[in-house]
Amino acid sequence: MTDADAVVVGAGPNGLAAAVTLARAGLRVQVFERGDTIGGGARTAELTVPGFRHDVCSAVHPMALASRFFREFQLARRVELRHPAVAYGHPLDGGAAGLAYRDLDRTVDGLGRDGRAYRRLFEPLVAHADAVAEFTGSNLLGVPRDPVTAARFGLRALEQGSPLWNARFAEQVAPAMLAGVAAHAILPLPGLAPAGVALSLGTYAHARGWPIPVGGSQSIVDALADDLLAHGGTITTNAEITDLRELPRARAVLFDVTPKALVAIVGERMPRRYARALQAFRYGNAVAKVDFALSGPVPWANPELRAAGTVHVGGTRAEIARAERDVARGRHAEAPYVLVSQPSIVDDTRAPAGRHVLWAYTHVPRGSDLDQREAITRQIERFAPGFRDLVLGASSRTALDVERYDPNYVLGDIASGAPTIGQLLRRPVLSTDPWRTPVGGVYLASASTPPGPGVTGLNGWYAARSALRHEFGVRARPNLSLD
Ligand SMILES: Cc1cc2nc3c(=O)[nH]c(=O)nc-3n(C[C@H](O)[C@H](O)[C@H](O)COP(=O)(O)OP(=O)(O)OC[C@H]3O[C@@H](n4cnc5c(N)ncnc54)[C@H](O)[C@@H]3O)c2cc1C
Repeated sequence: MTDADAVVVGAGPNGLAAAVTLARAGLRVQVFERGDTIGGGARTAELTVPGFRHDVCSAVHPMALASRFFREFQLARRVELRHPAVAYGHPLDGGAAGLAYRDLDRTVDGLGRDGRAYRRLFEPLVAHADAVAEFTGSNLLGVPRDPVTAARFGLRALEQGSPLWNARFAEQVAPAMLAGVAAHAILPLPGLAPAGVALSLGTYAHARGWPIPVGGSQSIVDALADDLLAHGGTITTNAEITDLRELPRARAVLFDVTPKALVAIVGERMPRRYARALQAFRYGNAVAKVDFALSGPVPWANPELRAAGTVHVGGTRAEIARAERDVARGRHAEAPYVLVSQPSIVDDTRAPAGRHVLWAYTHVPRGSDLDQREAITRQIERFAPGFRDLVLGASSRTALDVERYDPNYVLGDIASGAPTIGQLLRRPVLSTDPWRTPVGGVYLASASTPPGPGVTGLNGWYAARSALRHEFGVRARPNLSLD
């Protein structure tokens, strides 16, 4: 193998973001990916019936839109990001539903007596959405640039993450909506980290929307790969790296893998203390996923949900909290929380005319090998009677299948490490530069570093900038734009 200036292991969004940043600084970059295609958790493929294209992992991209990396990369000029009329919806029994529009006023109008309380919760954050994105998108050990917004966010997270979370509300819909977003964290509710997730994703819904990329999440990683190749980088697929010695010589090696995998790959060359810290990093609970090919749109009892890019299925706040508590205790919930995305309502490249794809996952204990197709179908059917009759084909993956697909999702943990407050601060170690390891030239660039999970490219971007500073003496941020 020929030498490179920098090597990246893993072609997920973070590995590719790191590679693009390094190549844009003028370095010769080689990427090695174990899969036969690039993309990690952002691939799109035919999983069910020919002509139906499903997002294998990530589907909805509020975090990509908010990401400073993707803004500098000008993602919105490279990939068409479509906005469903409703960012996310939340059905309740009896046909009621919460609908999160980009327009906060319109959202508030649908929330009856709780509208004012919902507005007070979000208005100051939506007005400073860039500041929210800045501090939630960086190492939490840093000093926020807008401490007032950070303090407002923190106080609201304390409220929504505590047993006082219902105090401001009188009805069911608004708290259910917040619980539906908080549950993305796959942690017990109420809790500080899930409250932070609800507030940041809720802010993005009203400030910028929850977009769906035309062509699927694959188009995001393809845009990264195109830019890398245009700047002299190379990508080798079907190349699983199990030992540092398999790599060409390079001044910097950036790993888009978990701490667990890094310990195995670096082996004896890793200082014991650091290896112990990485081994103490905890993986969270998991998801089991089902993709459906449908003969028509989902027949939601509340027809307004047909316009929602994302639907949080699971009922009231109390029901969702119960389901998440079961998972945290190692049990499969009887009436699970199900995260649903309907990409083909805005993107007609996903399915033949008039037909639809539906993306759905539920939370399960880590390492579960239980097929959740029936549990997910039952919950959707509860709020969309007749759903079952539309299914032309389905592909179901257990939590262990999710790990087999991509080892970064240890035992099915799609966050590559539980996003608890402790592990958002210590990701994977407590440091102002957690991307840099004590092994010379070796960096960690995956979602197991700050700012945590999601297709943001930020973890890779920060890791690459640390490597540029320490290994190449480059302090300036490389220009990532199209111009
Ligand atoms: C089912 C599911 C749904 C999700 N939904 C969303 C969503 O809607 N929106 C969102 O923002 N995020 C979502 N996520 C999370 C998001 O996909 C991840 O946080 C993101 O992909 C992390 O990027 P990464 O580059 O750190 O890791 P990954 O995307 O996992 O990429 C890691 C890459 O490294 C490769 N690799 C690993 N080990 C090696 C090795 N030893 N040698 C060579 N290559 C290796 C892997 O094959 C993979 O391609 C979802 C994830 C899953 C699994």
